[in-house]
Amino acid sequence: MNLVWAAVGAGVGLVAGAALRGAVFRLSVPSGEPDRTTCPRCAGPLRSRLVMRCAHCGRRPGTPLVLELATATVVALMCGRFGGQPEVVPFAFLATLGVALATIDIAVQRLPDRLTLPAYPVLITLLAVSAVMEGKWSALGRALLGGAALSAVFLLMALARPGGLGGGDVKLAGLAGLALGWLGWPTLLFGAALGFLLSAVGILALLAARRITLRGDISFGPFLLGGVLLAILVGG
Ligand SMILES: [Zn+2]
Repeated sequence: MNLVWAAVGAGVGLVAGAALRGAVFRLSVPSGEPDRTTCPRCAGPLRSRLVMRCAHCGRRPGTPLVLELATATVVALMCGRFGGQPEVVPFAFLATLGVALATIDIAVQRLPDRLTLPAYPVLITLLAVSAVMEGKWSALGRALLGGAALSAVFLLMALARPGGLGGGDVKLAGLAGLALGWLGWPTLLFGAALGFLLSAVGILALLAARRITLRGDISFGPFLLGGVLLAILVGG
């Protein structure tokens, strides 16, 4: 762990988390409903610049600091892990996006296409730039294959058992496969398996705490993202 880079990452993550707050609040609505654009306290219009704020009472939507600290933590971990290597950029990007996706998935059980789909060209471009800078062409090829393979496996699982994994999980799996594939096939397998393991443990814990029922909806996204994060930190 490179501590200087981790400290830089924490600072970048704090700013990125603050900037994400608006998008996370706006998109935290059930599928098919319009975006949230009014202040939860006074119903005034929310002005969206870099940081979203109510035009009437000045309040910023959402729980203070949670998103900022979570983003700072994961970006710090990515920067500490990859130090000055070019791939710190794609991995920090995925970590930041992952915090936004996990937050929305926990709130409303969905992973919006408006975040997952545009992330594909961004992540692939950033990995390609890293490949050019370091000559890591085999890693890039493996990332592309890994993304295709993991999304295909998730698609088959979603089709085999409707009501289990959703379309958002399939699209997130492609992004996870790109990042894990870059680090190697063992890391990809480890990360995906860890996602399912964390999900099983999480469901048992929530059942035990009576926070969900056996038929209750549970988001898979945060568990997959947790597995991916751990695999990135220890694998490759
Ligand atoms: Zn307000």
